[in-house]
Amino acid sequence: MEISRKLAILADAAKYDASCASSGAPARAAAPGGLGSTSNGICHSYTPDGRCVSLLKILLTNFCTYECSYCINRRSSNVPRARFTPDEVVDLTLGFYRRNYIEGLFLSSGIIRSPDYTMEQVVTVARKLRTEHRFAGYIHLKTIPEASPELLAEAGRYADRLSINIELPTTADLNRLAPQKNWQGIDSMMGRIAKNIDASAADRRPKRSPLSSTTTPLASPITDPEKTLFSTTSPATPLSSHPSLSPLSHSSLPTSSQTPRPSPLLSPFVTSTSVSSRASNRPRSGLPPPFAPAGQSTQMIVGATPTTDDAILRTADTLYRTHKLRRVYYSAFSPIPDASTALPLQSPPLLREHRLYQADWLLRFYGFTVNEIAPADAPQLDLTLSPKLAWALRNRHLFPVDLNRASRAQLLRIPGLGVRNTDRIIELRRFTALRLTDLARLRVNLKEALPFIIAADHSPHRLGLDSENLRARFTKPAEQLEFLL
Ligand code: SF4
Repeated sequence: MEISRKLAILADAAKYDASCASSGAPARAAAPGGLGSTSNGICHSYTPDGRCVSLLKILLTNFCTYECSYCINRRSSNVPRARFTPDEVVDLTLGFYRRNYIEGLFLSSGIIRSPDYTMEQVVTVARKLRTEHRFAGYIHLKTIPEASPELLAEAGRYADRLSINIELPTTADLNRLAPQKNWQGIDSMMGRIAKNIDASAADRRPKRSPLSSTTTPLASPITDPEKTLFSTTSPATPLSSHPSLSPLSHSSLPTSSQTPRPSPLLSPFVTSTSVSSRASNRPRSGLPPPFAPAGQSTQMIVGATPTTDDAILRTADTLYRTHKLRRVYYSAFSPIPDASTALPLQSPPLLREHRLYQADWLLRFYGFTVNEIAPADAPQLDLTLSPKLAWALRNRHLFPVDLNRASRAQLLRIPGLGVRNTDRIIELRRFTALRLTDLARLRVNLKEALPFIIAADHSPHRLGLDSENLRARFTKPAEQLEFLL
């Protein structure tokens, strides 16, 4: 089979995996057979600051011995099958990378022969790229849950990020739709990855010399591309106040003369220093090589079972806390041909996926708990309102909040106010009493915030806050159906 045909099949088969952050990326059309469209395996992931990162996103093979009923690649599925050799994936990656079409590789696979055999093939690709070709781009490998610890250890040495899909939000869901998969096996593999990441970080932490108070940077130059791009493009935030930099003293930050210059051939989140250590997999400055420095992530399919949002968020929350996952991706179930009768006929609304991402953000950065976001009497997220606004409407007794006096934790709970603006408000109010014009300048979402805040020149009417109609103010009015005559 021609490589282009394999690429078409295996890139299409990979599109259901959202865990490289590309699920929200719109398809981009290319000329037939041309490069640059998702059909050719190049997916576009978006960073929090809106930058686009291109990855070659493919499966090594879509043959699979498993029978997960929600999956287009399951054993009984009637789809065209293909399989790359590791050398073919290496050649494709290098070819696309040299032409500047991609900045990295996202590689997953169906399970063939055995988990170890499959994982060995996946690791071979990464090993060849790093050690034979000194490839320094981003590599995200999907790991196979039952693979041996030795293969996992090797994968982590070459990959920037590892992920294992938890697949479904509960053990019961997994037993029902993917009986060959094992919840405990997935969980313990995630635990092993987390342990390896922690051990590697500890090994690489510079030992403090009793004679010197200065330290060298802690982080590996290759980090989460999202985080790196985010932090390098936030000129408005002073370095000293950036939360991600707070553990580092100024003396630990490289000066401009020390800062490695990225090679023009490399992706923007890879520096030339990282290339030499990463590409050769040799210890840098006597340090052991990093293990998956961009952390681990997972994906959960939403809407394939009746499991409610509170259970989905509870699972995500547990994964963040126990295995320190960088991201949990939520992927709306897509109906597949010849599907099992256990599956729904329709996808859930895409808005549900969006609300789950918003709720996930509240858990990680705003100090909310799952019970607050999706309480027992409202286990499904409200599709018409953002989770924070829905929470505020359920808890009106906690408002209004005085912007000029409230704690950071209270400010973070105000609808329409994000983390960055919260920190700016705290900074600004040291010098002046904040007024609505200041908020407008900060581009705070005033429509959402106004009923819930007190500013120097604004106090919401208590009656308005208690009003039955407050919710209607934020939802679209119901549209009258038109009759076709
Ligand atoms: S193991 Fe993965 S590729 Fe195979 S059927 Fe299950 S979800 Fe699909």
